[in-house]
Amino acid sequence: MNEAVNEAYEKFRGDDGGKNADYIPFLANVPSQLFGISVCLPDGEIVEAGDTDYVFGVESVSKVPTAILAMEQYGPDTVLDQIGADATGLPFNSIMAILLENDHPSTPLVNAGAIAACSMVKPVGDASGKWKAITDFLEKLCGSPLVLQDELYKSESETNFNNRSIAWLLKNYDRIYDDPDMSLDIYTRQCSMGVTARQLSICGGTIANRGVNPVTHERVFDAAITPKIVSMIATVGFYEHTGDWIFSSGIPAKTGVGGGIVGVLPGVMGIAAFSPKLDGSGNSVRAQHAIKYITNKLGLNLFGSYLSASIRRFRTEGVFRSAFFPEPLFMGSFLSPVRIVLTLRNESSDSSALIFGSSGAGRRERAVRDELFVFRIDHPALHGVRDPFFRKSPFFGGLFHPADVSL
Ligand code: GLN
Repeated sequence: MNEAVNEAYEKFRGDDGGKNADYIPFLANVPSQLFGISVCLPDGEIVEAGDTDYVFGVESVSKVPTAILAMEQYGPDTVLDQIGADATGLPFNSIMAILLENDHPSTPLVNAGAIAACSMVKPVGDASGKWKAITDFLEKLCGSPLVLQDELYKSESETNFNNRSIAWLLKNYDRIYDDPDMSLDIYTRQCSMGVTARQLSICGGTIANRGVNPVTHERVFDAAITPKIVSMIATVGFYEHTGDWIFSSGIPAKTGVGGGIVGVLPGVMGIAAFSPKLDGSGNSVRAQHAIKYITNKLGLNLFGSYLSASIRRFRTEGVFRSAFFPEPLFMGSFLSPVRIVLTLRNESSDSSALIFGSSGAGRRERAVRDELFVFRIDHPALHGVRDPFFRKSPFFGGLFHPADVSL
């Protein structure tokens, strides 16, 4: 992962494609050479390169936390009913999308649905209470304090005429659940929160880690919301270019016109990249290149190979760990996908997930007990890796209770 992140940084730092968002005056002036990449692994380790401390406007990436908050407060089904979860196939600020969708805001991840989500956030009718709920939640996701970018907020508030139309069109269709001007103001403010690429990667890591912040270890939201929000991100994270993105990157990701992108691979990582120059759809050019490079290089893909398995809980490990592997054997000698699972084991109180090099077939067979089975991982990043215990091992496997693994 370290190598992939550094390579991506070196490879794309000189890429000069795109231009800063200019419809929000503040964003036009952010130094466009800035570039940072940060990955948050489930054990809280951060792998990063470049300007990962620079504070930039979170913009549309903020739609993700507020959508999660609305689902946490109301349950996913109510959000589906009141806002929706469909792709619009249209730009993020489309008014046409509202008309075409038969008065439905479509999804909390485009402007109309995001303003509707802000209107839903409790306490309804209380602007400062809502704002506190949203910022507290965002800080818990990111694991550290955040500061509103006042200038950005002012700049955006003075020029957000299109969004004002959206808020009132929603009102016309009865699809906004609090005062339209207040909901719009909350939305504009949340877009103006400052974040760093590192904080965004931790936010992504918290989503990937089923609601538990990997750095603070705090449970931020209900685990059942992860698949819901990831499905929304996968569906519309890049607006009208979401299909192209997911096809070429394999990772659900959400962009913002501030130049940030956050990607989520459940159980594996949160990844964020930031660079201000955008393509024609408002998505950071360098950040897209970087994330795609890393996922493709490491073979990390939501739709393929071992990542389709999600490990939900673990049994007591009893005999298995001591019978098979002295733990130090694994320390440091494994690539991240394996280490990730080990970490989950360590964090779990009734832990038992076992990872082992699987070239010793006899041992593997013996490892299988009634309630356990061997899950084999065939992952390109692991090919050719030799572990000292099993010598040559193209595969690694884990022992999980069948009920703990969904394929
Ligand atoms: N605040 C911006 C807007 O509403 C966010 C857009 C974006 O990041 N795609 O126009």
